[in-house]
Amino acid sequence: MTAVAPSERSAAAPPYRGRFAPTPSGPLHLGSLLTALAGWLQARTAGGRWLLRLDDLDAARSRPQHADAILQQLEAHALHWDEAPRYQSQHLAEYADAFQRLRAAGRVYACTCTRAQLARDSIAAVDGAVYAGTCRDAARPAARAAWRLRAGDGTLALHDRWRGELRRDVARDIGDFVVWRADGTPGYQLACVVDEDAQRITEVVRGTDLIGSSLRQLLLQRLLGLASPDYLHLPVLTGADGRKLSKQNHAAPVSAVAAGANLLQCLALMNQAPPAALRGGTPAEVLKWATSHWNPHALPQAAQIPVAAPPAEHGAAAAHLAS
Ligand SMILES: [Zn+2]
Repeated sequence: MTAVAPSERSAAAPPYRGRFAPTPSGPLHLGSLLTALAGWLQARTAGGRWLLRLDDLDAARSRPQHADAILQQLEAHALHWDEAPRYQSQHLAEYADAFQRLRAAGRVYACTCTRAQLARDSIAAVDGAVYAGTCRDAARPAARAAWRLRAGDGTLALHDRWRGELRRDVARDIGDFVVWRADGTPGYQLACVVDEDAQRITEVVRGTDLIGSSLRQLLLQRLLGLASPDYLHLPVLTGADGRKLSKQNHAAPVSAVAAGANLLQCLALMNQAPPAALRGGTPAEVLKWATSHWNPHALPQAAQIPVAAPPAEHGAAAAHLAS
């Protein structure tokens, strides 16, 4: 099995630095709490640092009050972070610099496809829709255009520390993706690789729904000459409708008054088998147990975990606890 335990990291490896990067478009739900908890445990058991980043580039969806609420939720769950949080909206010049490097290297082109065109022309692939290349060889006016990376061809192999090697055909499975948006803001993939580099992140812990993003970011890191962190993709929690728990489908916010139970529920969902004696424990007590018992080898291999009932205010973890 693939090595994921901190003790198995090479002695020569740089100190562990992980991160949690929520979008402040609403409060944390159980799925985002699970991601935060797994990342926090990876960092703490490695004796490393756990950093916070607010993905607040989308001005239409992001709100400072949501960012504040997320920080308060993390604190209520005793998931304390190191260093000052990084707000993406404060680093636009760094993203623009990376974009200009790609542009100077001839690796981007203007795309004027509408949403309707993209919905019609995109090609289904293993990690989600791939751009059809409509604008790749056309001379498009650059004003109000999005800029896409010329992904090129060949194969790309991402080593997931838990799932093993994820090998993809660049042209077929990744395709040309947006690195600079028509509204003048950086694309998610570009901003993310600049951030991982700026924060010197050594491991990215995120959901399986972002495997396609990890591959695109690996490609960008290579093109920009940046070091690639390790990747660990966690199962995504899904609701009764089979869809990922998200702000968009109104997943319930995790409540501070049930913080201990929320953490226990996440540990149970990650097959960590927290003992029944922890029921009613404080977040600090639960995390103390979790830090000394964290076993990433026990993580479910499934890409998704259905959560039968929405997280309740109280006692939600009880049914999942090992007896
Ligand atoms: Zn296009």
